Amino acid sequence: MYPKPVVVVSACLGFEACRYNGQMIEDSFVRSLKEHVTFIAVCPEKAIGLGVPRKPVRMAMIEKKPHLYQPATQEVFTEKMIGFAKDFFETCGPVDGFLLKNRSPSCGPGDVKVYDGTSKSAGSRRGRGLFAECAALEHPSAVMEDEGRLKSFELREQFLVRLYTLARFRQTSSQGSMRDLVSFQSTHKLLLLAWNQTRFRKCGRITANHEKKPLAEVYADYGAELQKIMTARPRTPSMINTLMHAFGWISEGLSPEERVFFLESLEEYRDERIPLSALLRLLKGYAVRFQKPYLLEQVLLSPFPSGLVTVSDSGKGRGG
Ligand code: SF4
Repeated sequence: MYPKPVVVVSACLGFEACRYNGQMIEDSFVRSLKEHVTFIAVCPEKAIGLGVPRKPVRMAMIEKKPHLYQPATQEVFTEKMIGFAKDFFETCGPVDGFLLKNRSPSCGPGDVKVYDGTSKSAGSRRGRGLFAECAALEHPSAVMEDEGRLKSFELREQFLVRLYTLARFRQTSSQGSMRDLVSFQSTHKLLLLAWNQTRFRKCGRITANHEKKPLAEVYADYGAELQKIMTARPRTPSMINTLMHAFGWISEGLSPEERVFFLESLEEYRDERIPLSALLRLLKGYAVRFQKPYLLEQVLLSPFPSGLVTVSDSGKGRGG
């Protein structure tokens, strides 16, 4: 049973025709997520009264600080946007992730053009949209991506793993017993090992709680460590070590040909010729065949609903 993550999404990604030109963008990944997550759709530019359609805004450096600026009216909307974001996050409750419109001066989580001034000839650098900046400050542990990067199969997979892991932890924290935390650590063992072995061991020490800290403090320490683990991407060698560890649980039941096939598949994964999910599927099949409860309970083998796996890819490879 999967939790239902809470995701703040740019409303123009299939919820509302609210873009500056009155259009909406249909995104197949957002569409597929609709039945699996709780979406909170928001159009920050419409919310601060810019209207639809509207003259475009941009991020521009004014007196060495980034501002939300509308060239057509020469108006600055920075304070309005920050005020709106503050009110919005006060009311929207816990958030596990953000799925935002790429390159938007308000929503873009990265790769947004930030002009070096307000003149027509101003050069530019890359930065973040203003609403996305407020969101990152308000929810630093939530996973944040834009729909453009999620065209990459690998990045989409990682986004989902992180989103569902954070949602599971939020669910576990709300139950709040030591037993629940121990069970979380045990079922996430392979996943956390693959992401960061050192921090996984630290999570183990936090869960053991030799210092007899109060439960709330243990959860806070564990959550902080989990957040650090989830902000980075797993390195391919660590993932391969973890997959070999899992393979150790089933290899003796396999024929020599099956063992060779698995090891060759690992090499294909290393060379980015097959995705991680292909190997996880293979391992899960073996775990079912040999009835290995240790493996079957590992979140790594089914980190998110299989209905969310789509094979489309931007072709940009691992890392997007
Ligand atoms: S990118 Fe953000 S601000 Fe722009 S239309 Fe979409 S939701 Fe509104």
